[in-house]
Amino acid sequence: TLILGIETSCDETAAAVIGRDAAGRARILSNVVRSQVDEHAAYGGVVPELAARAHVEAIDAIVAAALGEAGIAPRDLSAITATIGPGLVGGLLVGASTGKAMALGLGRPFVGVNHLEGHALTPRLTDAVDYPFLLLLVSGGHTQILLVEGLGRYHRWGTTIDDALGEAFDKAAKLLSLPHPGGPNVERAAEGGDPRRFPLPRPLKGEARLDFSFSGLKTALRQAASAAAPLSERDVSDLCASFQAAAVDVLADRVGRACRRFREAFPDLAEPVIAVAGGVAANRSIRASLEAEAARAGMRLIAPPLSLCTDNGAMIAYAGLERLEAGMTDPLDVAVRSRWPLDAAAAPLVGSGK
Ligand code: ATP
Ligand code: MG
Ligand code: FE
Repeated sequence: TLILGIETSCDETAAAVIGRDAAGRARILSNVVRSQVDEHAAYGGVVPELAARAHVEAIDAIVAAALGEAGIAPRDLSAITATIGPGLVGGLLVGASTGKAMALGLGRPFVGVNHLEGHALTPRLTDAVDYPFLLLLVSGGHTQILLVEGLGRYHRWGTTIDDALGEAFDKAAKLLSLPHPGGPNVERAAEGGDPRRFPLPRPLKGEARLDFSFSGLKTALRQAASAAAPLSERDVSDLCASFQAAAVDVLADRVGRACRRFREAFPDLAEPVIAVAGGVAANRSIRASLEAEAARAGMRLIAPPLSLCTDNGAMIAYAGLERLEAGMTDPLDVAVRSRWPLDAAAAPLVGSGK
C-alpha cells in the first residue's frame, strides 16, 4: 500500500508518501514541506488570500517532489488523501482539488482527512502506539486534550476557551517586539531570565474541567510590560521567563489532571501513553514538564520529532491509510470545511458544510 497525503489547510504546502513494510509497519517514504512563513512575516499572521495563492503556485512541484523522493510513479499509488478541513477554505480547496483530480485521473480512491485527525494519529505512525491513548495538541491554532479511543473515535476532554497556546506565545513576542514566529524567540529570550520577577496569573489552574485560557495571561503580560517600560534586555528576558513559567505551570496542571483521569478510565493498560503534537511541543521547558507529569502518573510521554509535530503531509497520509484500511473512502464531491471539530470526524462527510 502506498498513499499520497496532501496538506494545505494553513500556511504549509506539504505532500508525503507513506507505505507499510512487510512487517505491517508504517514507513515514511518522503515528507516534503514548503512553509510560507516568509510570505506572511511582514503581516504578523497568516493572510488567507496570500496563502491560497502560494498554495496554488507550490502544490504541483511539492507533489512531484514527494513522489520523486519516494521513487515512485503516480500509478503506484493505492489512494490519494488530502486535508479537507478544518482550515482556510482557499488553501483547503487547492489541496483537495489536486488530490481529487489525481484520484479521478488514476482511478484510485480519495480519502478526505480532518487535519486534527492527522495530528491525533501521528503517534501511531511514529511509535505504533495502541489505542486508546491521550493526546495533547498544542499549536498555533489549537490547544486541546483529546482521548483517542480508536479511528474516528475522539473525545475532547478540554480545549482553550480563548487563545491557543502557540498564539499566546506569538502575541507575547509581538508585544515585546520580538520577531515572528514568537514561540522560539520567547523561549530563547526566557533563557537566563527570572521567572519569578513578574507574578503572572495561572488561568483555570486547579479547575476540575480540563479547559485552558490564555488571553488573561497575555493581558497581564502587557500590563507588566508597560509598567516596566522602557524595557531593557534584562526586562524582556524576565518577562519572557515569567510568561513561559506561567504557561508551563498551567499546562502541567491540566495535563497532570488529564493523565490521572485517563489512568482511572483505563486502569488495565500495559503501557499508558500520552502523546504531544503541535509546534509548541518544540519548547524544551514544556517538554520537560510534560515528561515529569507523565512520569508522575505512570504514563509514557511520546513526543514525535518536530517535523512530524508541525503541519506535514505524512500525518495526513497516515490518517488516510488507516481510513482506507477501514474502508472509509470519500466521494469526489466531498466538501471542504473551514470548521470541523475532531469529535465529529466520524460523521458522514458527504454534502456541503456541516
Ligand atoms: P494549527 O496546526 O493548529 O493550524 P499552526 O500551523 O500555527 O496551527 P504549528 O505549525 O503546529 O501550528 O505550530 C506553530 C506554533 O508553535 C506557533 O504559534 C509558534 O509560535 C509555536 N512554537 C514553535 N516553537 C515554539 C517554542 N519553542 N515554544 C513555544 N511555542 C513554539
Ligand atoms: Mg503552521
Ligand atoms: Fe496543525
